[in-house]
Amino acid sequence: MGNRIYNVVIIGYGGMGSYHVQLIEPIQQLAVGGVYDIVDYRMELAAAGGYKTYESLDAVLADQAVDIVLIATPNDVHKEIAIQALQAGKHVICEKPVTITSADFLDIVEVAKKENRVFTVHQNRRWDEDFRIIKDMIGKKTVGELFQLESRVQGANGIPGDWRQLKAYGGGMLLDWGVHLLDQLLQITDSQIESVAAKLSYILGTEVDDGFTSFIEFKDGLTAVIEVGTTNYVKLPRWYIKGTEGTAVIRDWDLSGEIVTRNPDVAHVEPKPIQAGQGLTKTMAPPSEESTLKFPIEKIPAAAESFYQNFVSAIEGKAELAIKSEEVHRVLVLIETIFEAAATKSVIRRTI
Ligand code: NAD
Repeated sequence: MGNRIYNVVIIGYGGMGSYHVQLIEPIQQLAVGGVYDIVDYRMELAAAGGYKTYESLDAVLADQAVDIVLIATPNDVHKEIAIQALQAGKHVICEKPVTITSADFLDIVEVAKKENRVFTVHQNRRWDEDFRIIKDMIGKKTVGELFQLESRVQGANGIPGDWRQLKAYGGGMLLDWGVHLLDQLLQITDSQIESVAAKLSYILGTEVDDGFTSFIEFKDGLTAVIEVGTTNYVKLPRWYIKGTEGTAVIRDWDLSGEIVTRNPDVAHVEPKPIQAGQGLTKTMAPPSEESTLKFPIEKIPAAAESFYQNFVSAIEGKAELAIKSEEVHRVLVLIETIFEAAATKSVIRRTI
């Protein structure tokens, strides 16, 4: 790492903006140089935390001491702030979903190219340990050839009672947690998508989806179920993957779970029938202990660079951005396809 310290100003000092401040603190080459929020109370909080506050976005953009603008506002204004910041010569980090449509995102990419500035999106969940373990497992073929993946997040607290409930702000769970889960999915396989089916849920009566289930088929034979729920009093596991040699489950962010595979050293053992409800079954009996191997979920080493360190490396031309524009665009196209599949109640056959 070099010695230069880059000055970051946070636009939108709400839940995520104030969290970014904490995340940036330990990064050697980044310093929080100030904050701008349209709400006075949020600015007072920033000032109380010892941060410089700007009186307007224009004041931030006019300040030559500002190197990086970090956008943590509601989704509807990401695009206009990103374009203005790039045109003012700032590098930009934008919260997810970067924009509400894929076309809007391409407009930002064009400006970033023209202005020769680094632009990226905070897809922080690529650094989540549960995801990195699953990706590693799939790469190593721990459960053989992957053919089914289920990735879910489920809560019982509904949609937070803010702009996330409103369509005009880019609310709804597909544009919220959905962005993370779909981004992770597209990092897991190199295969293209061939079809998408989906159902959005409106259990809470909001104008935006309070969750969704999507069924995504890839050309290499993988089927993925991606699901977000906010009305689930009992949760299903975070990850469930099936391959030709076994099954793995990670139940939660605490990494509880297990891997069970076929024991290659033991010939097929006939299962013993079990009592199941009012009948007997051999088909649904657990596999015999000697014919399977069971492994715990092992932790894996941290990623070489954090999201922020990678951004600095990209500014200095020392590394490629971890979150690439083509990847962000593909996720947005997939989200648009999920909306379309749900609205038309049809399977959309499309290469993505
Ligand atoms: P929030 O409502 O808590 O905060 C948003 C802040 O932006 C508020 O303080 C609001 O006053 C301010 N604001 C609104 N319009 C503004 C404008 N034009 N200029 C300046 N400030 C403005 O929302 P949040 O939960 O912090 O979400 C903000 C963004 O972060 C969203 O895009 C959201 O999707 C994203 N987010 C990402 C993660 C993640 O894990 N990557 C987690 C939470 C939120």
